Formats: sequence, C-alpha cells, structure tokens
Amino acid sequence: MRFDIVTIFPEFFTGPLDYGIVRRARESGLIDVRVQDLRAFTHDRHRTVDDRPFGGGEGMVLKPEPLFEAVESLLGQPEPFAAAVPAPAAPSPVAPSPASVILLSASGKLFRQSAARRLAGLDRVMLLCGRYEGVDERVAQHLATEELSIGDFVLSGGELAAALIIDAVTRLLPGALGNETSALHESFSDPRSGEPHETEAHDTGVISPHPLGAVSPPEAAQPLLLEFPHYTRPAEFRGWTVPEILLGGNHEEIRRWRYRMALEKTRRNRPDLLTGQGPG
Ligand code: SAH
Repeated sequence: MRFDIVTIFPEFFTGPLDYGIVRRARESGLIDVRVQDLRAFTHDRHRTVDDRPFGGGEGMVLKPEPLFEAVESLLGQPEPFAAAVPAPAAPSPVAPSPASVILLSASGKLFRQSAARRLAGLDRVMLLCGRYEGVDERVAQHLATEELSIGDFVLSGGELAAALIIDAVTRLLPGALGNETSALHESFSDPRSGEPHETEAHDTGVISPHPLGAVSPPEAAQPLLLEFPHYTRPAEFRGWTVPEILLGGNHEEIRRWRYRMALEKTRRNRPDLLTGQGPG
C-alpha cells in the first residue's frame, strides 16, 4: 500500500514513521510512504504556496494550484481532476486503482477505526496537509475524495494528523502485526464481528491475545467497546494489587471479567459509544 503525504514541512516525518510497527511495515515493503514537498509543485521564484484570504481576515490560505498539481502528477492521471492539465501523449501506464485523496481538516468528518479499516483496503492513499488558516475550499470540493478530522480540536497543521492516520491504517494491514492467526480485538472492535482483528505486537515481539472474541456478550446488539485494562508484573506495586482474577488460571472467568471491565470503562470514558450518540 502506498501513502503520499503532501506537506510544506517534509522533514516533519523523519521520526513519527520510524518506529515499531510502521517502521517494520516500511522496511518489509508492506507500505511505501513518500513525502512530497508541496513547494516542488510551484513555479514561481519564491515557491509560493499561500496567499491572503479573499474577503479579508487573519492569516494565509494554501493556494489550490500546487495542491492540484501535486495530486495530479502523483496519480499520473490528470482526468478527471482538471481540464487545464494537458493530456499525456500516450495513455498513462498507471492503471486506475482504488485511491483516496484525503484533505486533513478540522472541519472534516471524524476519522474513526471504521475509516481506518476502509482505508486499509485501498492501494493508495494521499494525505494533503493544510497549514496556516487552512486550504482553499476548492481543494475540498474538487480534488480531495474525502475531508478528515482526527478530533474536535484545532492543530496547527495536518502533518500530525497524517502520521496518525498512517499509523492506524498500517497496523490493520495483513502482516503488519506479525501474527495473522490470532483473531483478536482491541478498542473500537466489534467483539462478535468476523472481520480480521488486530493483534498487538509490542516491540519485544510478544503477541498478547485479546480475549473478547470468546465472550458471549449478553446484549443482542453489541456496541463497539474500549479495550479492557491490562496489568503486568509486579503483582503488587505501591500497595496497588493486580485484580485477583487475573492471577488465577480460569480463562473463562478472565474473559468474562475483561468483558465487564471493557463495558465499564466504555461507560465511564466514552458513553457516546454505548448510546450511539456522537462523542460528548
Ligand atoms: N482555520 C481552520 C484551522 C486551520 S489549522 C479552522 O478553523 O478550521 C491548519 C491545518 O491544520 C488545517 O488546514 C488542517 O490541515 C490541519 N488541522 C487542524 N486541525 C485538524 C484536525 N482536528 N484534524 C485534522 N487536521 C487538522
């Protein structure tokens, strides 16, 4: 799977994508992340990417032309993006493939685990990082196939959001986590669904199985739950002990306890997941 990140700060990505699962996925060729400098798609002496907003107001806005040019040249398929781009002399060798052009935006649709799963099924994802006051709206309207926000807060740029999406999508790709045979669940997974589930491979290489899949949930309509709490050694730390049930070997009881804890934690931290309301 290929990711293209279009940004005015290409150096930003040395670091966030160089660790753990994402690093391994890059090294093994499971994903190919290419960072594109937006200024490379400008033609003036100053490599201008921004301009003042029409109608007045604070700050600068990213211009449409470099972003359109970046996406079109990277896709190698000018149509249907802009009639102004000259048609290639020969048919493009790039076969049309499922691709998403994502504009990172505080006013986009909320990026959730379900979107991560959907994106993990694509061959190609482009991530357009805004800066300053944002991006000319024609990019959202006529270039991006979707506009995504990573939460109800305003960042100073789309770069962190892009790295976050790449991380969440990559760990869902078959082979990224190292153990395909484990049918595991994490936060935001449907404990009963038959889709491939995430495993949790830590940098130690240890795979910790998630038990919720074996639980028979009492409800008919199973909500997405947060993950249950984890504990490791020592069994007692500063007087706080690990729940007794985890120390015994009764796997059925442990599964039930974990399911109860997941439900409780979801009720406490994210009641909106249980009621189907938007995040509170
Ligand atoms: N004036 C805009 C915020 C611009 S912030 C507004 O009020 O909505 C600059 C850039 O940061 C945006 O163009 C976007 O790419 C990125 N950004 C900010 N918040 C984000 C969020 N919650 N999710 C994804 N990207 C975000």
